[in-house]
Amino acid sequence: MVGSVPVGGGAPVSVQSMTCTRTGDADATLAQVRALVDAGCELVRVSLPTAEEAPAFARLVREAPAPRQVGAAWSGSAAGAAAPVPIIADIHYDWRLALAAIEAGAAAIRINPGTMAEKHVREIVRAAADARVPAGRGEEAGVTEVPVAIRIGVNAGSLPKDLRDKAEREPAEALVEAALRWAAQFDEWGFAAYKLSVKSSSVPATIAAYRLLAERSDAPLHVGVTEAGTLWGGTIKSAVGIGALLAEGIGDTIRVSLTGDPVEEVRVAWKILAALGLRRRGPDVISCPTCGRTEVDIVSLAEEVERRLGSDPELAARQITVAVMGCRVNGPEEARHADYGIAAGAGEGWLFDHGERVEALPEGQLVDALLALARGSAA
Ligand code: SF4
Repeated sequence: MVGSVPVGGGAPVSVQSMTCTRTGDADATLAQVRALVDAGCELVRVSLPTAEEAPAFARLVREAPAPRQVGAAWSGSAAGAAAPVPIIADIHYDWRLALAAIEAGAAAIRINPGTMAEKHVREIVRAAADARVPAGRGEEAGVTEVPVAIRIGVNAGSLPKDLRDKAEREPAEALVEAALRWAAQFDEWGFAAYKLSVKSSSVPATIAAYRLLAERSDAPLHVGVTEAGTLWGGTIKSAVGIGALLAEGIGDTIRVSLTGDPVEEVRVAWKILAALGLRRRGPDVISCPTCGRTEVDIVSLAEEVERRLGSDPELAARQITVAVMGCRVNGPEEARHADYGIAAGAGEGWLFDHGERVEALPEGQLVDALLALARGSAA
């Protein structure tokens, strides 16, 4: 468990992201946490770069919003509907900041133990084991509090000396070995609430490392392609890297890493999960690629449908498939599996419901009629 969210052990793959505001600016960071949660983020990581920012971090933990339940709610988890989103502290180098984050109420901390003295890692583990954070209402499982979880995040830049040569020849092997050494050390200390990550900015290296790690460890895995790039390029790298691993059943929580608004990371993460049929959140818009038969601006129509579905509180919570197709001849047939759709031609189009034509309408009325049909209030 990471606070109220189950990670590993067969739990649904959870979506996480990270704020990019200054943590010391609690108002701005809290606003971003809210935006992330509204977009479907289930675990929010926040950096704690200085001790001066610990009070702001503590405020984030106290005021963290509860996720809206929109059809993506955990099933069989101990999470109560009102449990706040768990806040994970991102700690680099300074072990005392990890202690400050635990003191401030972090549900989990992310450390790279290879950048710290072992005795200091031991201190962090001890503090995490002794602390307790809320795990929701826990009516089902009877769990109300859990220890602070730790992510052991290994990367190529901080491998122990004896693995550096190996990293040149077998980078995946070296990363995994470093992670497993720490996992064994945590086991020896009697601390089980950890998860592992061995991210790389290379997609093949990421896939190779996680495959190896999954073979050798039963610990929950945090999966992602790090420093993946901008919205466009990073989405593709993440979809390929994370998607390939999830398709093999590898990965318990995912973070899409993009240079840009972290809300986009959450949207991309959900699209990856939905594309693989693992989880869904809200409507899915399918649209045709257009061809020589297309007589209307399908790009604008599809974008409008997607935008309006996402901003309609009632529809945004429904797991429906909505089709926007570019011709009346093939559209309804090609999108038979959609719940609702439009098939547009020059000046007018068909509205259809589960592949059946409902009525022909002028082009300008199609989107309104489609949303009304989806709401169940069509005439
Ligand atoms: Fe072409 Fe019609 Fe298919 Fe769109 S739905 S790709 S316009 S045939």
